[in-house]
Amino acid sequence: MTEPANGSEPTPRFDISQFGAIGPEGDIKRLLVVAAHPDDLETTCGGTLALLVDAGVEVALLLCTDGDIGTHDLSYTRESLAATRREETLAGAQALGLKEVFFLGHHDGELVADLQLRAEVAGAYRRFLPDTIFTFDPYWHGQAHPDHNAAGRAAVDAYMPSKMELYHPEQLIDGVTVADVKRFFFFGGSERANAITVDISSAWERKVKATRCHVSQFGQREEALQWLEQWNRETGKCCGLEFAEAFTPMTVW
Ligand SMILES: [Zn+2]
Repeated sequence: MTEPANGSEPTPRFDISQFGAIGPEGDIKRLLVVAAHPDDLETTCGGTLALLVDAGVEVALLLCTDGDIGTHDLSYTRESLAATRREETLAGAQALGLKEVFFLGHHDGELVADLQLRAEVAGAYRRFLPDTIFTFDPYWHGQAHPDHNAAGRAAVDAYMPSKMELYHPEQLIDGVTVADVKRFFFFGGSERANAITVDISSAWERKVKATRCHVSQFGQREEALQWLEQWNRETGKCCGLEFAEAFTPMTVW
């Protein structure tokens, strides 16, 4: 994303204004992250969310699974791991200043973008009324995790019906109205021409702190987040940034 500077070479931008005008009178007021697993939000977009929250955007998380197979420590059961990871999710959300977390409670490794999930996601769109969605790219062929694909697929599939009064009208009670999502941004895609690269260097420490809330995944070991540091450094390399996250916009009508 660029803007012309006095007719000379365009000046590249790497800030959150690339998503649109931020704030009460702008495009981006309420943002919902549709994630598959408890630590997806922090790892994929935690730095950008910290910056958006700073700018006054109200951010919430819709979490599709409880991440209840995400361990090799067999002192956990699926139930106890789910309970632990819900606590960790709330701690991470608090660290980043999120407004709300919606738990759908599906099993990890078994998420399917079926009609039930579509209706559940649409219900969250109708309750939180986001103008903007961050989620996984369901069109990316490199996606090896079926839950990531299903979450992104369901997020896009829920967009149209969530606007329509005759779709699951039982959701439209107690002041809940039809949704009006305006725009989607998928995690990643830094290699694409239309990718948005966000400089998260000033939010890196907060991203790490929020990610560290997922103790069952990353523990207290210093090296546990080396992969994340490497990923976000690599994403910033294109643009001379210390740490960056990337997003791909999807146009909806
Ligand atoms: Zn995940």
